[in-house]
Amino acid sequence: MLEMTSQYKELGISEAVYRFGQKIEEALKERFANIDEVAEYNQLKVIKAMQERRVNEACFHYASGYGYNDQGRDTLEEVYASVFHTESALVRPQITCGTHALALALSANLRPGDELLSPVGKPYDTLEEVIGIRESKGSLAEYGITYRQVDLLEDGTFDYEKIKAAIHEKTKLVTIQRSKGYQTRPSFSVTQIGELIAFVKSIKPDVICMVDNCYGEFVETIEPSDVGADLVVGSLIKNPGGGLAPIGGYVAGKEEYIENCAYRLTSPGLGKEVGASLGVMQAFYQGLFLAPTVVSSALKGAIFAANIYESLGYSVIPNGTESRHDIIQAVTFGKPEGVIAFCEGIQAAAPVDSYVTPIPWAMPGYDSDVIMAVGAFVQGSSIELSADGPIKPPYAVYFQGGLTWPHAKLGILMSLEKLVQAGIVTLPEAR
Ligand SMILES: *Cc1c(COP(=O)(O)O)cnc(C)c1O
Repeated sequence: MLEMTSQYKELGISEAVYRFGQKIEEALKERFANIDEVAEYNQLKVIKAMQERRVNEACFHYASGYGYNDQGRDTLEEVYASVFHTESALVRPQITCGTHALALALSANLRPGDELLSPVGKPYDTLEEVIGIRESKGSLAEYGITYRQVDLLEDGTFDYEKIKAAIHEKTKLVTIQRSKGYQTRPSFSVTQIGELIAFVKSIKPDVICMVDNCYGEFVETIEPSDVGADLVVGSLIKNPGGGLAPIGGYVAGKEEYIENCAYRLTSPGLGKEVGASLGVMQAFYQGLFLAPTVVSSALKGAIFAANIYESLGYSVIPNGTESRHDIIQAVTFGKPEGVIAFCEGIQAAAPVDSYVTPIPWAMPGYDSDVIMAVGAFVQGSSIELSADGPIKPPYAVYFQGGLTWPHAKLGILMSLEKLVQAGIVTLPEAR
């Protein structure tokens, strides 16, 4: 037996917290084995794509200027198309984040007079300004594109009747968000998304079905593009960047729609031909290569946290046993001190900025103070272990990521340690 307790002790984890964590982890063996199996499957999928597209050393060369014939970039886009089983893909450092990728896919494929439909309720916060739900410069609304939304039923399922009624001759694109993001609705499985797409297409076959795939990539063995999505969209500083991509977003899907995205991203007439990769290609390839196991580490962390805090009597979403469709975990503490102690623990366990104490602060776009734990190699990266919580009822913390399982585990144990030290949590043995 390794001297694990003393190793943890040196990092600030007491023996009681460590032992409590070990008991929880012990009971999760079977689930972790299933997660490893999904990672194994997806790892093979990625390697196969890289071999088929003949990825080679020249793909990592620096390209500058216009970027004509940027081999690394062009090959990477083929690799993404192969992984997602799509005709084409656009994967670029010039796509700055997930919101940008989504805004690009929408504005590239919608024209004045068209209508956008969300059949899964309100989209991710930042999309509100893209669409124009909240008034904003450059929104789709400013270009005469209308928006309609059908909320989920109370049990979190699709309201098929209202969706049917909402589709009409102007409906051009349907956007489906896979992850709940920071809402309380459930995240959708790829199979559920497939059922919704089939329903939408049965009413209007030529409608474009787009999926916001953020936080969902590699959680399952299939992706929304395997079940009928015409476009899947995501961020490289989340799952598919594997923690190594320093920037970037992707759109994968039907050739025609990806071309529209390329002409919108660069310029009419130029499309995919320009856009130098500026030396980030090795990180993009290597990040994608690591992504399946990185996602599995993040998933284990989320499940470990759910089970730890559920067993201590806190409400957790998703709960300790339900199946996972993204890497986000919410824990409700019911009081600000709990949220703060949790985030202090995540920060204290980070490889970067561990000595910094996070404090709640006013943030643009939020109506309360927010506390964030971010000890990341890539600024704002949420595939790295990170947590944030708005300081308002119900005082919940949202946490995600973890490039390795041992780091995710340390972060969660450290959060528990801080809660114990603050007198908010009493461990069962000590009661
Ligand atoms: C993170 C996220 C986005 C936006 O991505 P950014 O990179 O933060 O702009 C959009 N949708 C969902 C579901 C997300 O999780």
